[in-house]
Amino acid sequence: MRVAVFSTKAYDRRFLDAANRDFGHRLDYFEARLDASTAALAEGYPAVCAFVNDRVDAAVLEALASGGTRLVALRCAGYNNVDLEAAERLDVAVVRVPAYSPEAVAEFTIGLILALDRNIPRAWNRVRENNFALDGLIGRNLSGRKAGVVGTGRIGALVARALRLGFGCEVLASDLVEAPELIAIGVRYAPVDDLLREVDLVTLHCPLTPQTRHLIDRGRLAAARPGVMIINTSRGALIDTAALIEGLKSRQVGGVALDVYEQEADLFFEDLSNEIVQDDVFQRLLTFPNVLITGHQAFLTEEALAAIAETTLASIAEAEAGAPLTRLVTARQVRAQA
Ligand code: NAD
Repeated sequence: MRVAVFSTKAYDRRFLDAANRDFGHRLDYFEARLDASTAALAEGYPAVCAFVNDRVDAAVLEALASGGTRLVALRCAGYNNVDLEAAERLDVAVVRVPAYSPEAVAEFTIGLILALDRNIPRAWNRVRENNFALDGLIGRNLSGRKAGVVGTGRIGALVARALRLGFGCEVLASDLVEAPELIAIGVRYAPVDDLLREVDLVTLHCPLTPQTRHLIDRGRLAAARPGVMIINTSRGALIDTAALIEGLKSRQVGGVALDVYEQEADLFFEDLSNEIVQDDVFQRLLTFPNVLITGHQAFLTEEALAAIAETTLASIAEAEAGAPLTRLVTARQVRAQA
């Protein structure tokens, strides 16, 4: 099938081309992000392949549908950037990659927790300047700490296990459904407000939905344990960034590690080192010594990229064959989960 692949980098092409040897789709790569101004590039393509910060809203879907596109294949797990109601109305199917490598994201999350807690990036910066002083680098043991995991699906469950069994944390979890296998290893479920009042660190692994937008807001931060550490490798808008900055300034929030950011679409995945970044909120975040930010790279492992490419192309092959789409995501499914 002819596929217009948006937001592509060299690494996307490498893994998609390798996987495509088994499928033989015609993949045309566009560096541009998919949005209303670039949707015309997909004219005549029955399938479009999009990524996390592509904007697949109603206007874009209308342009795609009128250009003949019948399938949007997301090469990611989250689908918060797609207007699924509009897709259904326009008869455009949307598929995603529900699970490519939860280990990739879970392991990166643990990496962020350790790096933040033990000041590893700050220490490395010092050592590179032959500054071997240790003042200001005191960390805390993870063992025995109270950790909160919000969302214990594929990724959150792995993080909860690692914190509980690997590091000996007391783990509290919050989810719409409880996982018996986590309860069996001593994880305790609690409503998110109770969890936040109790834990030393909280890591977010629920999807971004209207219900979870700004899950971490001013009120919850104020009620949290003073010095709470917040880790987010899920979606930026789970956190109200302005409230987070206030919390950091007042020291109510003791540390923050983010792989995702509310307004990341204007920043992440691009080299802006020669630009003047206009996002003052993001720039303020960078000034805190106890904030660590990466640019949405938790998924970025060899294994995950290979699995993403393979699954995405398999979904496109299903569509080409007129077979049922096994990784279809519909507005109805999403409403049922809410
Ligand atoms: P999943 O669907 O397996 O798990 C999500 C869990 O969140 C489910 O158990 C669900 O019941 C729970 N949940 C839903 N609403 C909730 C709420 N209001 N409160 C608490 N829990 C709630 O998803 P996953 O594969 O574990 O991925 C989690 C998220 O990680 C994705 O939604 C995606 O946004 C993000 N992600 C980020 C990266 C990255 O590179 N940073 C990569 C992959 C996924």
